[in-house]
Amino acid sequence: MQANLWNLVTTNVRPICVKRVIPSLTATQQCRYSSTLEADVVVIGGGPGGYVASIKAAQLGMKTVCVEKDETLGGTCLNVGCIPSKSLLNNSHFYHVAHSGELQNRGTIVQNVQLNLDKLMEQKRNVVKALTGGIAGLFKKNKVEWVKGHGKIVGPNQVNALKPDGSVSSTINTKNIVIATGSEVMPFPGIEIDEKQVVSSTGALSLGQVPKRLIVIGAGVIGLELGSVWQRLGAKVTAVEFMSSIGGMGIDGEVSQTLQKILAKQGLDFKLGTKVTTAKKTGSEIVVSVENAKDPSKKENLACDVLLVCIGRRPYTNNLGLEDMGIERDEKGRIPVNNRFQTVVPSIFAIGDCIHGPMLAHKAEDEGVITVEGIAGGAVHIDYNCVPSVIYTHPEVGWVGKTEEDLKKEGIDYKIGKFPHLANSRAKTNLDTDGFVKVLADKNTDKILGVHMIGSVAGELINAAVLAMEYGASAEDVARTCHAHPTCAEAFKEANLAAYFGKPINF
Ligand SMILES: Cc1cc2nc3c(=O)[nH]c(=O)nc-3n(C[C@H](O)[C@H](O)[C@H](O)COP(=O)(O)OP(=O)(O)OC[C@H]3O[C@@H](n4cnc5c(N)ncnc54)[C@H](O)[C@@H]3O)c2cc1C
Repeated sequence: MQANLWNLVTTNVRPICVKRVIPSLTATQQCRYSSTLEADVVVIGGGPGGYVASIKAAQLGMKTVCVEKDETLGGTCLNVGCIPSKSLLNNSHFYHVAHSGELQNRGTIVQNVQLNLDKLMEQKRNVVKALTGGIAGLFKKNKVEWVKGHGKIVGPNQVNALKPDGSVSSTINTKNIVIATGSEVMPFPGIEIDEKQVVSSTGALSLGQVPKRLIVIGAGVIGLELGSVWQRLGAKVTAVEFMSSIGGMGIDGEVSQTLQKILAKQGLDFKLGTKVTTAKKTGSEIVVSVENAKDPSKKENLACDVLLVCIGRRPYTNNLGLEDMGIERDEKGRIPVNNRFQTVVPSIFAIGDCIHGPMLAHKAEDEGVITVEGIAGGAVHIDYNCVPSVIYTHPEVGWVGKTEEDLKKEGIDYKIGKFPHLANSRAKTNLDTDGFVKVLADKNTDKILGVHMIGSVAGELINAAVLAMEYGASAEDVARTCHAHPTCAEAFKEANLAAYFGKPINF
């Protein structure tokens, strides 16, 4: 298997010396063989940033090599992030709806509802396999060369792909290097993750049984999503959060409070303004010691069967050769880049989770596209104010642009247009009326500055707000745009009407 990795069939990359696998040699003898390739762009990392950058570069006519160390492409997002978590969220929602008796209210009688956790996990594995395999197919179609191995930068124009034993499998000479090495789970000092009883998000995506009690350290986006999954499947979930609100950075205060109330009604417990100090395994139980963030004398011990550590992610740049290139990382371990995503070494670029900005797949993808367009001589522009965020709980939360808190801090005069889903005909028809849409627009110009929504399909709906903001729309522009009826999107139109005219029609 390993030997085959060096048997590179290159269509678009000029191989200088490709050593073929010689069956008569032992593995050790094979190890002596390595290949040298030439390319226009080498992308290190095949996650959303790296694989999209690779495909785009190839589409622009560049000879492109993507070095990825894992067995599958897709990075965190497809393998242990966005995709498996959404699979579990979607399917656990179906279970919850059937199990909670909600279907009876809708005229469907279901009896003896049971959970088949193995099947749920199988579906998750299937979708991950299909999508990661799909990227490999896209690489072939677009003539991107995937070199398996750990990419190490050994010169401004040279990358080595390393085998697990550290030896070199390929050397790639290249005009440009794009670092897209992503991020890894942030460890909690003093708490050892075994991915069985004490898990990170990765372990929480694959628990073999539903824990009776689950404590989640961190009520940010990932903690809320995975907490929701296991709560729906039957666990008693308590989220312990240092901050006094849930949803992480960038969420609007009003939305955060509303989400907390709704999730609490669903059964999630929150301990906010609470600091975890230690966690100790005592047999099958874990005792988590916490204290009040403001008054450390107020202490408490909480017990659980599984502890999920979800306090964030940090850039992953291990053994990348940055030091030798003179590329220093900032205080958070991120790689500094200029507005063309160039590091201090002009031929080396960096994108995605390993640089500044929100750690989101679509942000990484967009950076990948514009970085290689820039390498090809094009303009490079991204408006981070127009990068949306979504929490895929039920209801979902979506936002883009400034929050009320931001606008107050920046001293910008704004007006608010709000519309509740309770007054939206589609949400009412669907018996799914939790939440609202809130539009923040400039008081003088009517330009939309931020949109914040909580509702069953907020994750889809927020894209309409992103489009409006990207094109500099005013609230009136959206309010005068015809929206299909009956749709939840009409709540967005009505919120804009409320923002520019002061009064919506249906509320
Ligand atoms: C549980 C969870 C749920 C999430 N849900 C969402 C969501 O719903 N929406 C969203 O937008 N974001 C979500 N995220 C975040 C999202 O996964 C990341 O923002 C995104 O994957 C970042 O993309 P990237 O390409 O920068 O890095 P990554 O996806 O981390 O990919 C980096 C790749 O580089 C490879 N690599 C690293 N170093 C080397 C090296 N030296 N040589 C070769 N290969 C290397 C890694 O193996 C990896 O495949 C979630 C994350 C988690 C953990």
